[in-house]
Amino acid sequence: MKKIFVLGSTGSIGVNSLNVIRNFAEKFQICGLTTNSRIDELEKQINEFHPELVVVKDEQAADELRSRKLNSRTEILSGDKNLLLAASSLDYDILIGAMVGFSGLAPTIEAVRRGKRIALANKETLVVAGELVTVLCKEHSAEIIPVDSEHSAIYQCLVGEELSEVEKIILTASGGPFLNKEKSFFETATIEQALNHPNWKMGNKITIDSASMMNKGLEVIEAHWLFGLPKEKIDVVIHPQSIIHSMVQFRDGSIKAQLGLPDMKLPIQYALSFPERLQNQFERTNLPLIGSFTFFEPDYNKFECLKLAYDVMESGGTAPCILNAANEIAVDKFLKGKIKFSQIPYLINKALNKLENHFQPDLEVIFNCDKLTRDFVSALV
Ligand code: NAD
Ligand code: MG
Repeated sequence: MKKIFVLGSTGSIGVNSLNVIRNFAEKFQICGLTTNSRIDELEKQINEFHPELVVVKDEQAADELRSRKLNSRTEILSGDKNLLLAASSLDYDILIGAMVGFSGLAPTIEAVRRGKRIALANKETLVVAGELVTVLCKEHSAEIIPVDSEHSAIYQCLVGEELSEVEKIILTASGGPFLNKEKSFFETATIEQALNHPNWKMGNKITIDSASMMNKGLEVIEAHWLFGLPKEKIDVVIHPQSIIHSMVQFRDGSIKAQLGLPDMKLPIQYALSFPERLQNQFERTNLPLIGSFTFFEPDYNKFECLKLAYDVMESGGTAPCILNAANEIAVDKFLKGKIKFSQIPYLINKALNKLENHFQPDLEVIFNCDKLTRDFVSALV
């Protein structure tokens, strides 16, 4: 029996993780859950999974939850400190990293320092601190198994292969809701249009990132750290059907791909059960029904965020941290109707040009850089 701690259990990945775990009660047991503030969803999860402990980041929401009558003897903690404490002291085998954004970094590092398996959806952790996390994983024999569907696909294609024989990896991208729009459309794109993803149902932040293709940019950096590959060996190709989740091309020219429906349950399950594959009843891919696959080059002039991500990966140091923090603020402002969609790359560029890059940053430098960037971009808006 593996004990599972889900960080961000009330989000899109968190809920899907519990949908997977529900099917394997004899293999996986939930020992901890966390949320920012969505206590109604958390209450249902507590009553079903009876975790030893939950952490609600928001103090007021935690108090509200404490006042409710729960059908479980679950300890309720609150605040950032206790989130870290739980990651560093709760008895678990696998951490599911399903928090969104920079907030996932600190608790994930705690799990790394304890040499745990981390089923990682929170790509921002590797974007802002990939170098540090990679070093710590080696030092503590921690294991990161990607949940992001593209990286899970690559991970699966690499089983039984030598990394030294990889010519390149090919990350597929749906292209998002604005694939067929002109760049000028970004001046007037609405929140509703940007949230209307053609293939995937996800949290708001990643959905906006998909519309700007920043999501693919973050994934390029995520792949760089997960698989230790340089920029030249990481390609992006648009594949609007989102059935091929990604591919690996080897030095003999052979390409391996992993296919499946656009449903995160499969990569989540794989990250929990690897190296085993578990029988499940999830819907199967009906290829004749899908009919055809198409592929295009991404337009780097239109999707500036994707280009910026490649650039900061090359710069290294805290440049990816600046890009990420600026993007988090810009996306938040866009979702609040404070800026245009076209201003997202503009603000990121401003931050990258203004703020100093620090090489081989430790955790303190990364936290400072994140804060400085947030303050800088917020002041611009
Ligand atoms: P979401 O917004 O649906 O859920 C985020 C979760 O984190 C929620 O439980 C929320 O309560 C919690 N949270 C948010 N901010 C917090 C904070 N400051 N402190 C503590 N907890 C906080 O997001 P999601 O779509 O599930 O995405 C989660 C992560 O997985 C992201 O990094 C995303 O890029 C990645 N991811 C998601 C998908 C997907 O299909 N949704 C696919 C691949 C990767
Ligand atoms: Mg992805």
